[in-house]
Amino acid sequence: MKLPTTIAIDGPAASGKSTLAKRMAEALEYLFFDTGVMYRAITCAALSAGLSMDEEAKITALSQAAQIDVQPASADDGRDNDILLDGVDITWAIRRPEVDANVSVVSAYPGVRAALTAQQRRIGQRGRVVMVGRDIGTVVLPEADLKLYLDASVEERAQRRYDERLRRGDAISLDVVLADMRKRDEIDSTRDIAPLRPAHDAVILDSDHMTIEQVFAYALKLARGEAGSAE
Ligand code: C5P
Repeated sequence: MKLPTTIAIDGPAASGKSTLAKRMAEALEYLFFDTGVMYRAITCAALSAGLSMDEEAKITALSQAAQIDVQPASADDGRDNDILLDGVDITWAIRRPEVDANVSVVSAYPGVRAALTAQQRRIGQRGRVVMVGRDIGTVVLPEADLKLYLDASVEERAQRRYDERLRRGDAISLDVVLADMRKRDEIDSTRDIAPLRPAHDAVILDSDHMTIEQVFAYALKLARGEAGSAE
């Protein structure tokens, strides 16, 4: 049995792809790498610098200079890793609603994508990695041995994100989360460069009709070459 060296998992926001990727990485002893944190980090930096999100040239320059690091978790507060931007811990700052609301604009800029895609490819090409994002199977690692595309309805995804926020103590309404998610889906899937879509050879999984346990069990079978049909 030959395991895939690189596993690409794409899908819209809150489709469960990070949870799936983390579990697969743990089971296979691979690196889990969530590329969304990089786009969030640049958005966070642009907001902190007081830039307006339409200042493409400045945001692009920022993405080329930014030093984003992902390190083992230093605190037991629910984080998977420490996310550092130029040495500063931004692990929770990148999850703010303000970042959610602006990240799709930032990530549609070609120069930002070029800068971050190059870094992601370098990490992916080392192998033994489960990489998560929107364009991993199509652009970042089109050579990945296993490509999964995890989907779910926007209502289901908004409800999950809303529950997550409530647990964290954020005061937010479901309507706002749903509206934001629809807007982000729209921008992510219609942008010119690297839009959100499944690679032609991706296995599409719909988590509306499967529990995370079922999705994980099936994905692991696919990775191990043991899968028949999705049940
Ligand atoms: O996955 P997450 O919701 O954290 O991603 C945040 C945003 O980053 C996405 O809505 C998308 O605009 C952008 N993104 C991207 N390409 C990736 C990963 C994330 O454009 N590979």
